[in-house]
Amino acid sequence: MNDIIKAHCNRCQGERNQEVLHSEEFSWEEKLDDGYPISGTDIYEMLKCCGCDSIILRHTEWFSGNMDSEGKLYPVFHFYPPAISRPEPPWLHELNTILDEEKEFIYDLMKEIYSSLHNNSRRVATMGIRALLEHIMINKVGDRGSFSKNIDALGAEGLISLSQEELLKTILEAGHATIHRAYSPTTEDLHTCMDIAESIVASIYIHPDKANKLKKKIPKRQ
Ligand SMILES: [Zn+2]
Repeated sequence: MNDIIKAHCNRCQGERNQEVLHSEEFSWEEKLDDGYPISGTDIYEMLKCCGCDSIILRHTEWFSGNMDSEGKLYPVFHFYPPAISRPEPPWLHELNTILDEEKEFIYDLMKEIYSSLHNNSRRVATMGIRALLEHIMINKVGDRGSFSKNIDALGAEGLISLSQEELLKTILEAGHATIHRAYSPTTEDLHTCMDIAESIVASIYIHPDKANKLKKKIPKRQ
């Protein structure tokens, strides 16, 4: 029977029991230029989630330089694919269609944004969110010369609500600050931006389609 350990599962979204299918361990030792010795052990484990059968690789890094305030060594964990704290929305795959280039582009860009989120590349993710929203605005209402005019036009066309207009301004400002003013968003800020971006993408590209499909299914009044 293989060992069972606790580790994060992306599909189950949390700590789960994981079966260790295979494990490899390497130790190393080196002397720095001044003769000071450093050493470490790398452990690679292939894990299978006992809840959903997903398979991941966990790399545990023990390094002589990683010591807490009491002089105790602590391990650093790396997961492949990376541990995901934010799952992609279930409707995302609906955008992945070669029959609609615009939706396909939004899908590809969103996949890249999630990938930077999962790698904790917060600035790149924020810039990506801004680029995504700018693209949507210009594609839907044309370029009116400034963000606030583009946002107003999007609202005037009924594509977003009044409260979404305000939120959109906040995200575009966060993106601008990241690019031009060395602003680094916290994970929480980023999740807020992503919540807003997802709601705007869903209300422009997903809900109208669903409403149309539903309309076709409802029998007409006699
Ligand atoms: Zn799982």
